[in-house]
Amino acid sequence: MFSELVEQLKVDYPDFCFRKGRKFAFRPPKTIVIGSDEEYNPLLLLHEMGHAILGHRSFRTDVGRVKMERAAWEKARELCDKYGVLYDEEIVERELDTYRDWLDQKSRCPSCGLTRFQTPDGEYHCPRCDEFKQLS
Ligand SMILES: [Zn+2]
Ligand SMILES: [Zn+2]
Repeated sequence: MFSELVEQLKVDYPDFCFRKGRKFAFRPPKTIVIGSDEEYNPLLLLHEMGHAILGHRSFRTDVGRVKMERAAWEKARELCDKYGVLYDEEIVERELDTYRDWLDQKSRCPSCGLTRFQTPDGEYHCPRCDEFKQLS
């Protein structure tokens, strides 16, 4: 069933390049890596298709990254309908959680533990520590 889906996607999206790898991933602009670690889960494949169809590039802010993940899942939901794949909310939430945890960890200030904010240049700023820096 999984290999049939891949064949169908190759027909429907002739512009995209499908490659085998360890983990499912989207490599801009057009390569979809088919992960062998995750038992060829069709939902994960359709999620990467979502990134590819939406034309995602790398985002400068990490909040943008999480938004991008959400958008790719919304697209995957449409693709699931189209290709008769079960849209498993549990898997989706689990995947989104890994990004939320990652964002949470990254945005925490290493000196004081406060949540920092990110400016459009991608730099993190701590509302407490950065203020001290400016004062000194
Ligand atoms: Zn993704
Ligand atoms: Zn701080």
